[in-house]
Amino acid sequence: MNSTCDPLPAQALRAEADDAVFERAYVEGLLRDRESLWHALFAQSRDGVVVLDEAGKVYETNQRFADLLGYTMDEMYQLHVWDWAHGLSPEDLRGMIRDIDGDGHHFETQQMRKDGSLVDIELSNSCTFFRGQKLIFCICRDITARKAAERRIRYLATTDTLTGASNRGEFSRRLAEEIARAHQHGTPLGLVMFDLDHFKRINDGYGHDVGDTVLRGVTGVVRENVRLGDVIGRWGGEEFMLLLPKSDLAITLAVAERLRASIEARHFEPVERVTASFGVVVLERGEGFDALVKRADVALYRAKSAGRNRVETVSGD
Ligand code: GH3
Ligand code: MG
Ligand code: MG
Repeated sequence: MNSTCDPLPAQALRAEADDAVFERAYVEGLLRDRESLWHALFAQSRDGVVVLDEAGKVYETNQRFADLLGYTMDEMYQLHVWDWAHGLSPEDLRGMIRDIDGDGHHFETQQMRKDGSLVDIELSNSCTFFRGQKLIFCICRDITARKAAERRIRYLATTDTLTGASNRGEFSRRLAEEIARAHQHGTPLGLVMFDLDHFKRINDGYGHDVGDTVLRGVTGVVRENVRLGDVIGRWGGEEFMLLLPKSDLAITLAVAERLRASIEARHFEPVERVTASFGVVVLERGEGFDALVKRADVALYRAKSAGRNRVETVSGD
């Protein structure tokens, strides 16, 4: 009879060894399966995937990411993240790699292709420890088409498509913003409202298309005469607004007079003569949007009544 402490017979030992070999082969098979699954996922992903090592060098990537950046796979394995991450220095990126944790980040960014062009990217990253080293996983989705559509929608929502000036909604938003800023910082704010003179005669005499060309041309003249931060808006029909941040009455009057003279001097083929009338105001202490616009309107009306092709102002008292 065998007691529990008796050594196992040779046959039992052999069976146990066989079991261990079998188990090992089984686990290795599983790992191989998992690895090929992992590689298939990597290769077939519709997103660019890149794994970086702690030094920011490419550790692993897929064809999609190489295609996205315009490199061959061989070239990809020579690159560091700063070769494509746009607007970030190697120091910034080293800091990000150091700080990244398992939770990862999700953000929009731009990456630079081999040819120097930029691509809009939605990036998800996270880190993991593999064989004793920290690896950064990045999934990069090309969102160029979506960003272009967003820009187009934003443009259409804010811009007057005939002239390229801000539309009334966008101009009003900017005006409200600048009024709040001017009150907060105590800086002056100039507003010019102007309207083309006898524009109906241009439409009637030359046709609507020529009228449209004049509207575009006048907007061009205005653009040539203002600063980058000034806002040109089409208020309606042939009536425009010009917002001049940090401009007092003297400056705003001078800009309006320069515009008046430039429009009068410009020849808008085949129209004989185009002029405009201008109402000029500057924001008063405590004044709101409606009161300011109303004053500009009164000033413009004054310019029209006084004979057109002139600049008038109305003070706030
Ligand atoms: P005033 O000097 O008093 O401003 O006279 P006006 O003829 O300019 O003013 P009125 O308001 O009588 O006429 C404005 C004209 O502008 C009438 C309208 O058909 C025309 N108009 C408005 N929007 C457009 C546009 O987008 N294109 C063209 N071609 N004409 C437009
Ligand atoms: Mg008019
Ligand atoms: Mg008008």
